Amino acid sequence: MNQKPHKTSQLIMVWLLPLVVIGGIFVPVLGYLVFGMMVFFLVLSYFRGRFWCANYCPRGSFLDLVLSRFSLKRKIPRFLLRPLFRWAFVACFMIFFVFQIASAEKTVAGIGFVFVRMCLITTVIAVVLGIPIHQRTWCAFCPMGTLQGALGRLGPGSRKPPAPAGASRDS
Ligand code: SF4
Repeated sequence: MNQKPHKTSQLIMVWLLPLVVIGGIFVPVLGYLVFGMMVFFLVLSYFRGRFWCANYCPRGSFLDLVLSRFSLKRKIPRFLLRPLFRWAFVACFMIFFVFQIASAEKTVAGIGFVFVRMCLITTVIAVVLGIPIHQRTWCAFCPMGTLQGALGRLGPGSRKPPAPAGASRDS
């Protein structure tokens, strides 16, 4: 099967994933890279929707560049795409995140490690789902993707004239 040409941005950004999920185990402050990226892409999403997901996200890049070689590339189950499921997952994710922060050691390294752990757990889920289904299965309900899609619909990009028939739109 022909593979799409890799985006240069993804080839660069993909290295941040092992830096955080492996390097972060030994150097927990690397977790703040996740926090920095979150701030950046949530602001960007207001203007560009899920542009980050398609071009820069280190995990999305890993899923496209690496996991796609092992994925069975099946159709993503519809329920994972439903707004009710996706927003319920956002709520569960946020509760879990707040719980992790509340129970973490209140040091720079302790809080940094919360981000490392969250990134590690979600990456494991992405790999476990990505092989038997589709490499981007996680992205169908990733809380950060859901938030970016919602912010993008509030932003100026959503007020552009409708795209020509057949063109896809970030959501
Ligand atoms: S949906 Fe989540 S994991 Fe997927 S590309 Fe977007 S931010 Fe990254």
